[in-house]
Amino acid sequence: MIQNPIPWPNGARCACAITFDVDADSLIHIARPKDSWNRLYPITMGRYGPTVGVPRILETYRRLGLKQSFFIPGWTMERYPEAVEAILTGGHEIGHHGYLHEDPTEISPEAQRSAFEKALAIHRRMTGLTPRGYRAPVYNATQATIDLLIEHGFSYDSSLMADDIPYRMRSGGKHLYEVPPHWGSDDWPPFAHYAEIGYMMPVQPPEQGLAASFAEFEAQYEAGGFWMGIWHPFLTGRLARWAVVERWLEQVLATRKVWFAPLEEIVAHVERLVAAGEYQVRTEELPYFTQPVAG
Ligand SMILES: [Zn+2]
Repeated sequence: MIQNPIPWPNGARCACAITFDVDADSLIHIARPKDSWNRLYPITMGRYGPTVGVPRILETYRRLGLKQSFFIPGWTMERYPEAVEAILTGGHEIGHHGYLHEDPTEISPEAQRSAFEKALAIHRRMTGLTPRGYRAPVYNATQATIDLLIEHGFSYDSSLMADDIPYRMRSGGKHLYEVPPHWGSDDWPPFAHYAEIGYMMPVQPPEQGLAASFAEFEAQYEAGGFWMGIWHPFLTGRLARWAVVERWLEQVLATRKVWFAPLEEIVAHVERLVAAGEYQVRTEELPYFTQPVAG
């Protein structure tokens, strides 16, 4: 049961989005800045995402008529312009995902602002657009992150987890929507095996690893909610896993009342309902805390 379900367009029972975080090799460069340049295995594991995974994913979306969202660090956009071009040509959304995948909790608010604005300039130059949405690297948004998004007129964040469905945050008297992710439908726990950055997950077989995401979908569908995959092209874009996703997508699109859309469209839909007085959105008041809780 969801206390406050959102009425979706065209009688859809569940809004759905697959979001891909196209980190590529930014992950190793931010984690091991001294010698990442000469660590060819993690560089290539990351490069697979924009060069092999993204074209495969885009071809499936084209065949099935889907438009979806991608979050890409600014550094990665500059390094892989063909992937950016292909995503834009397919009519998909590109959201802000930091400059070099900096973890906002690991850097000062000043350094965060600098990286954020550098990435924003890259988005504008390469896409001709100002992104509407943001996802914090490692989901690690801070209060300063939320304030930056509000200051720069973003319509949504997709890093925080206070609800099953999109909700609103109010900070300093201004609003920002949250499109909540969760680890339950993130491909990192089942598939990431990356000792250099501290992850040694036991890699699961494709069906089993994706089953967690699909179980989240079934529960959200039953409740009339919102389902989102938070996946990475270098993990779920690999052949065996993507074959499972393709079969699942074909079956869901053929048999269920679902609305697959980019996050910016899902947020715009909720905004329209709220503006028209047709939906009361739940609002979280920020900041949650202004000093250490444990003293
Ligand atoms: Zn990322």
